[in-house]
Amino acid sequence: MIVFDLECQPSRHRFEGWFASSDDYASQMARGLITCPECGAPDVAKAPMAAHVGRKGNQQTIPHPASVPQHAMTAPPTLPPEAQAKLHAAFEAIAAVQAEALKSSRWVGKGFAEDARAMHYGDIAPDPIHGQASPEEAKALIEEGVDIAPILFPIASPDEVN
Ligand SMILES: [Zn+2]
Repeated sequence: MIVFDLECQPSRHRFEGWFASSDDYASQMARGLITCPECGAPDVAKAPMAAHVGRKGNQQTIPHPASVPQHAMTAPPTLPPEAQAKLHAAFEAIAAVQAEALKSSRWVGKGFAEDARAMHYGDIAPDPIHGQASPEEAKALIEEGVDIAPILFPIASPDEVN
């Protein structure tokens, strides 16, 4: 069965028409078998979808954005526990690699930009170092072609540890 919202053209009475199929509807319509139950008019057509609006018990209303709870619009998607565990493990793995790499690297603190540049130009022997650089310093180093990379995870500077 299929149900259509119909509307008589002279008076715009709305009513539901039940048919075996779309073809059945088309056939009945072609033969003039569908008439308005209220006024008997044979001039009937499918009502626009908006016909639902204002009809008691069958209202299709779109919620106004303002009526949607704010958290429903801004809450980040929640990962399933399994995915959260995997993500956590991945972060720990990367952090471990970073910690291992930094063991063989020398902390130069705020002298990083100066040392990195000196190594790049061959003024001092290349040596793995890590330290602090301001965004401006980092940008300048990259523009000069100095091979630097940001440290992914925050580390405690030896200067600050004690
Ligand atoms: Zn009618």
